[in-house]
Amino acid sequence: MSTTAPELPESLRERKQLGHDDAFRFGCHPRVACFNQCCADVNILLTPFDVLRLARRLRMHTRDFLQRYTLMPITKDLHLPVVMLRMNDEDGKKCHFVGAQGCTLYDDRPWACRMYPVGMALPPAKAGVEPEPLYFLFEDAFCHGREEPTEWSVDRWRHDQGVPEREAIEAGFRDVVGHPWFIGGRQLDPKRMELFHTACYDLDAFREFVFESSFLTRFEIEPAVVEAIKTSDEALLAFAFRWLRFALFAEPTLTVRARGPESGRNP
Ligand code: SF4
Ligand code: SF4
Repeated sequence: MSTTAPELPESLRERKQLGHDDAFRFGCHPRVACFNQCCADVNILLTPFDVLRLARRLRMHTRDFLQRYTLMPITKDLHLPVVMLRMNDEDGKKCHFVGAQGCTLYDDRPWACRMYPVGMALPPAKAGVEPEPLYFLFEDAFCHGREEPTEWSVDRWRHDQGVPEREAIEAGFRDVVGHPWFIGGRQLDPKRMELFHTACYDLDAFREFVFESSFLTRFEIEPAVVEAIKTSDEALLAFAFRWLRFALFAEPTLTVRARGPESGRNP
């Protein structure tokens, strides 16, 4: 490692840790002997923006996409719901989106598919500390990409794969999942778990909640924000993360509209 960085979590200590500028060799193209082998029987966690982009690409409501193409594994270690790409139960457990020439949704491929062979871990949340991601190298035996000559650093690879732009869109997501509220192993109750899942992953349902319920009469939302979230998925996603900090952790990220004097007289 070229820089002094905190160590990887215990479960990842076997992996080779990489600093931002550390070099590794990698190349992936149809001429590698293993082409497409990694797009089957693999655990791919989807971020909120992954779900959104894949649903848009397939012209599906986010709820329908989630039902058809994802799994929500439930284990007692998870403090928040996670969403994984569902592999095809038949056809060798291939990813639904792999074709003879590679990923058929390449421009909208998920974060994890872009990052590979680089992995990332976030250290446990600490109050007042912005978590600094830690990087490591997957050295899977089946992958011949590491025998290719092109040399990368973590930062150059991430830029090449369009990762920082996507991460910037969902910066608010990391603020929620790494929130100090979780320090000490606190758990959300099932209702708040459901809120989290809807706001982060089922964005079309969240849009219906905002625009087709009493939401906009209950909260004072800046008019420019209301306009933006009507038409921009990215703006709505950012707003969803902001709302979650209010709904899950009682942070003052939204203002409840003052009730009129007549409202108190209503039954
Ligand atoms: S989404 Fe694309 S890159 Fe990712 S596993 Fe499926 S086919 Fe492969
Ligand atoms: S196994 Fe490695 S080199 Fe082969 S297709 Fe997958 S990422 Fe590319």
